[in-house]
Amino acid sequence: MLKQTEKNVEKVWENCLKLIRDNVSPQNFKTWFEPIKPVKLEKHVLTIEVPSQFVYEWLEEHYIQLLRKSIKKELGAEGRLEYSILMENNMNSSKPYAVKSPAKGTGNLKNPQVAMPVSLNTAIKNPFIVPGLKKIDVDSQLNPNYSFDNFIEGDCNRLARSAGYAVANKPGGTSFNPLLLYGGTGLGKTHLAHAIGIEIKNNFQNKTVLYVPADRFMNQFVDAVKNNSPNDFVHFYQMMDVLIIDDIHFLAGKERTQDVFFHIFNHLHQNNKQIILTSDKAPVDLQGIEQRLLSRFKWGLSADLQSPDLETRIAILKRKMYNDGIELPTEIVEYIAYSITTNIRELEGALISIIAQTSLNKKPITLELAKQMIDKFVKNTVHEISIDYIQKIVCDYFELPLETLKSKTRKREVVQARQLAMYFSKSLTKSSLSAIGAHCGGKDHATVLHACRTVNNLMETDKKFKGYISDLQKRINLNHKN
Ligand code: ADP
Ligand code: MG
Repeated sequence: MLKQTEKNVEKVWENCLKLIRDNVSPQNFKTWFEPIKPVKLEKHVLTIEVPSQFVYEWLEEHYIQLLRKSIKKELGAEGRLEYSILMENNMNSSKPYAVKSPAKGTGNLKNPQVAMPVSLNTAIKNPFIVPGLKKIDVDSQLNPNYSFDNFIEGDCNRLARSAGYAVANKPGGTSFNPLLLYGGTGLGKTHLAHAIGIEIKNNFQNKTVLYVPADRFMNQFVDAVKNNSPNDFVHFYQMMDVLIIDDIHFLAGKERTQDVFFHIFNHLHQNNKQIILTSDKAPVDLQGIEQRLLSRFKWGLSADLQSPDLETRIAILKRKMYNDGIELPTEIVEYIAYSITTNIRELEGALISIIAQTSLNKKPITLELAKQMIDKFVKNTVHEISIDYIQKIVCDYFELPLETLKSKTRKREVVQARQLAMYFSKSLTKSSLSAIGAHCGGKDHATVLHACRTVNNLMETDKKFKGYISDLQKRINLNHKN
């Protein structure tokens, strides 16, 4: 009997997830839905266990409709959802406390019942604490340019940004403690970490906020040991209300620094002080960092920063130009954003060098010149899709020699391949109709336009043709990556 119920719970939730998965991005699915465990199904009430209060709130805020829909589909109009929230028992073990919400069948998705774990306030003895020490005036080391205002939001950073914003409004008071921001280089970790610090300073003038890169943290510690004052070092850091350590991966293999950081971390965390960390890797991939630290990183939230999409890249460039009081033709801005895709620092670098060039030459920059300069930046990291590249894929696919594609042949299958090459060139490159025509054996722009129209029409009416398009699209994408 019990077995039967268990099975149903899992099955029901599994079916809900199917619907959910189709409606959210893979990253969001992974972040918000994968950690959920279905725990109980009683009559029409499904209880799911979520890892923290924050996750519960986030689900309610962002996914309530979707959850409703999926529950209704699985359990009918009567279906209800209840949450059970895991609470962390911070200091004594890394195992969270499970707290079940009494199933009341209130018919309401709100108001989960959460009991506080008993031993939350257990104090640990801390040898470093100096009683009665006054608050000190600390220079936060924050760069005012790295504000939230200057941080452009996009799909690539939405989670990290909102988590950061939540932390800034309630430092130490959300379940994002520590908040670990991770991602590749030049994607905005440092900027966002500063933004959080700046916002906290704006909201709470009296809070002591400190930003420190991990290497400086280590050097200070080494100096302190040399000067026989490691305790002063620890006291100093334990007095922070908000501690931001940038590039924590730098501590890999530095055991003594990790050890001292562990003590500082525990002290701050236990006193509900906010810790913000950045790293170039997700915690699971952080080699050379002690397990006990890694498991503490998981107490809070790890949010990643990904490469920005085209729209976000353009917005970032525009913001930067606005801040610096510069204007550039849109086509140049778009060209930069189009060419540099993986690193915001490089994106800004390209912009700066173009601006430098214009002011040195004292004449307006042309797209041609901009292209030349940008190509230097792009190096081997980005391959722009070119007409040649598309023609090659199309020829391979239809097993046609390139010369035939470019010839004047009116044979049906060649015409079709040629039109497809033109169509993809138009939709995937920045080339003009006449440039595309010229690349296809000297056709004019009207021919290319006609080709694009024909492909669009056939796509809607001809199944086989539609198949060609999706095959080609796949090949182009596949080969284009790296
Ligand atoms: P990381 O620390 O991840 O290597 P940074 O925070 O130093 O990257 O960011 C590199 C540059 O890109 C900085 O000049 C930063 O201001 C800019 N930048 C990054 N993300 C954004 C964003 N979302 N909006 C505006 N500028 C950004
Ligand atoms: Mg950085």
